[in-house]
Amino acid sequence: MNLPKREPILLENVLILNPGEPPRRTNIYVEEDYIAGLGSESYPKHGIVIDASKYTVTPGLYASHTHLGLYPVSKIIGEWIHLDEWAEKIAWKWEPHLSPEDSKNAAIMAVYDYLSKGIVGVADMHFNMDAVAEVIYHSGIRGNLSVAIMNRSFYNDEWKALKDNLELVSKWHNRDNKRIITSLGPCSIRLVSRELLDEVARIKNEKSLGVHMHIAEVYDDEKYCTDNYGASLVEFLYQRGILGEKTILAHGVWLSSKEIELLSIFKSTIIHNPITNMLLGSGIAKIREMIDRNVNVAIGLDVSPTQNLFDEIFTALLASRLRRTPISVVEAYKLATINSSKVFNVKIGIVREGFKADIIVWDTRSKRIEDLILEKPRPYYIIVDGRILVNEGEIVSIDRKEYLKAKTRIMSRVGEIFGI
Ligand SMILES: [Zn+2]
Repeated sequence: MNLPKREPILLENVLILNPGEPPRRTNIYVEEDYIAGLGSESYPKHGIVIDASKYTVTPGLYASHTHLGLYPVSKIIGEWIHLDEWAEKIAWKWEPHLSPEDSKNAAIMAVYDYLSKGIVGVADMHFNMDAVAEVIYHSGIRGNLSVAIMNRSFYNDEWKALKDNLELVSKWHNRDNKRIITSLGPCSIRLVSRELLDEVARIKNEKSLGVHMHIAEVYDDEKYCTDNYGASLVEFLYQRGILGEKTILAHGVWLSSKEIELLSIFKSTIIHNPITNMLLGSGIAKIREMIDRNVNVAIGLDVSPTQNLFDEIFTALLASRLRRTPISVVEAYKLATINSSKVFNVKIGIVREGFKADIIVWDTRSKRIEDLILEKPRPYYIIVDGRILVNEGEIVSIDRKEYLKAKTRIMSRVGEIFGI
């Protein structure tokens, strides 16, 4: 892997599709890690000059809930309709075997594929996260990384998992100009103790960190919380001090209106994962209600078999209509762009002067966001934090041979463990 150097970049005569704005044809000037100029005036031409008049430009797309270590098994669709059955048969069969080398290979495979689909940031929660962080660092994409703290699977001891999470924080938090940040990752209410959550809340406040957690993915999560702690899940997290602006909560399928109100008050983010929610029969989250109550909603890939944000955005749109509480195309597009700012704690998600230079030049002339979502074009250029990661359709930060080697190795591990 080879993290590219920054140079000033001038994108000439591009068509920008920003979320919530009319299409705009203009020039973009990138200096260091940010967008230094946007307009028709002439900018310096001493760096890289790209005539992008034949292409469509968007901000980067972000997957705000992923498990790169599960990427190699994400295509095992199976026949289950409950999270717990999937966890027993896939996740907990796979994860205890993962070495740091396996997690590294899975991450290389995932990030390379993500770059080929325009995904430029991940909020990732899994195991061997130091190895994953190395891949994120050298690939040039953004990361909000946490250890999946639990009493099962890879870990038998949640306190050992928390210790590993703190090591990840001390080594990787705010690295490379805050391109990589870290969070604390208590996996879910049924997989950690109350004492562990209290310690997470204490450290979160002491170090001003975020928390990344699965909540109310299935009804059992809410029932467990009510039966054991006498409060709904979000009320319980509020009581423990887990809520806050940097807290990101995956799924939230079974939240009540009262819980959604609490998330709004504490400005926490919900990460919508509609394909996984459908795949595992978990249900459809109340995204319309969340948006209407000013809850920040971003989108993730979780264990979706297609691992493509265009599919996820389109499914979010369809799922909202199935609930008969539709979100618009623009609202669906915002889930993967501007609403990710809070997840990565930097100004991203829109191509605007003063924002971070995370820009995708797509190999298409589509003028409407719905055309782009349905066409799923390939990126022609990808710029993240001012660095060119995809150049004329070629991924430059990860060598293709390295990708193929990592993919072969990790998929042979899938073959060994699952007999496929
Ligand atoms: Zn997940």
